[in-house]
Parts: sequence; C-alpha cells; structure tokens
Amino acid sequence: MTIPFPKRKVSRAVAAEELAILARTYPHAVTALEYRTPFELLIAVILSAQCTDARVNLTTPHLFAAYPDPAALAGADQADVERIIKSCGFFRTKAKNVIAAARALFAEHGGAVPSDRESLEALPGVGRKTANVVMSVAFGEAAFAVDTHVFRVSHRLGLTLATTPRGVEDDVTKLVPRDQWRHAHHWLILHGRAICKAPIPRCGQCPVTMCPSRKIVARALAQRR
Ligand code: SF4
Repeated sequence: MTIPFPKRKVSRAVAAEELAILARTYPHAVTALEYRTPFELLIAVILSAQCTDARVNLTTPHLFAAYPDPAALAGADQADVERIIKSCGFFRTKAKNVIAAARALFAEHGGAVPSDRESLEALPGVGRKTANVVMSVAFGEAAFAVDTHVFRVSHRLGLTLATTPRGVEDDVTKLVPRDQWRHAHHWLILHGRAICKAPIPRCGQCPVTMCPSRKIVARALAQRR
C-alpha cells in the first residue's frame, strides 16, 4: 500500500509549528551509530548505506578491532574486510570503498578525517549524505543529511515537494535556523523510525496534529478496508 504525499507545501508558520513539536519530542536526538572517533563514524556511515544502524553497530567493533585506524585499514586485505562486513550488504563495494577511503585519508590528510564538504566528498564511497552526517555529527558543522526517513517524513509533513534528496535538503534548511540543521536531521529520522513509519505511519500516536498527511493516511486506510 502506497500512501501519497501531500501535493502542496504547508505554510512557513505551520512548518515552524511542526518542527517545534518534533524538537520538543526528541530533545536529545543523536545518531544511533556507535563510534569513538571521526574515522569510526565515517566508516560506519559508509557501511550504513542500505543497512540498519543496528546491524552496522554489530559489525564495526569487529572491523575496528582488526583495523583500528586509517593506516591499518589502508593496508587491509579486501577479502578479510569483506568477510567482516558481509552482513551489511553490498559488502564487496563497501569493502573496496572503506579501504580506498582509508588510503586517501592516510595519503592526503595525514590520517585525519577532514571536516569540510569538498574534501569529504572527494573520498571514495562518500556522497553528499555521508559528508553531511560526518560534518554535523563528528564536527558539529551546520549540515542537514537526507536519508530515506528524512525524505519521507519531510514530505508527509508538507515541508517539501522535491523529488531528490538535495531538493529536500534545500527546502528544509530554508525552514530551520542554521544552528538547528544538524538537530533537525535527527528529529526527522527518529520520528520516521518511531512513529511516521513506512509504509504506514502511526498517526494516532503522533503529536504533530496539524500534519497535512493525517487526512490522506486516514482516507487510504479507509479505502483499504
Ligand atoms: S500525522 Fe501521521 S503522517 Fe503526519 S507526521 Fe504524524 S505519523 Fe507522520
């Protein structure tokens, strides 16, 4: 069952109200990925593509026990990394990318993870979303990452009509003060995981009473009966 998104954006005032409710509901929102250093976060985010954070958290302790820093991972045997990360999916590509990223960190950044977008996006396996997560979570920079939950919940709340993650990022960052971008990312993810789920949101448990998707969801569920 596919529930359509609203066809119109809500007003700025309604958007502000919706986001304020999410901010109050998830006041201590942080990433679910477990990490100790920017390097560990970077590798965990690369592994999290098409995979749950819980699965990544089960995998990374083994990976970092074997390869604790960029120098160690840069010299890793790809088959060994593939074996360790196999359960994360797309393990061949991910193994290739994390080794290549570690080599680039070692060769170009003295083994440190850079905090600027251009350098991050130049690393193998790192796109805009991964760069945004590393910038905002590891370095506290103003960045707003759009994953599948952020994309869906932003649409359901009527914050955007954009068809691409970059379009959603542009729309939502216009509605949220710059110093709140990194928090807004977590509000939307946590809401998407806990209540505004795919494919069917739990509107009955949702505090965002003015959400334009409420009626759409109720209509879709009524038609299904
Ligand atoms: S009212 Fe329903 S669709 Fe809207 S944000 Fe809440 S759970 Fe999602």
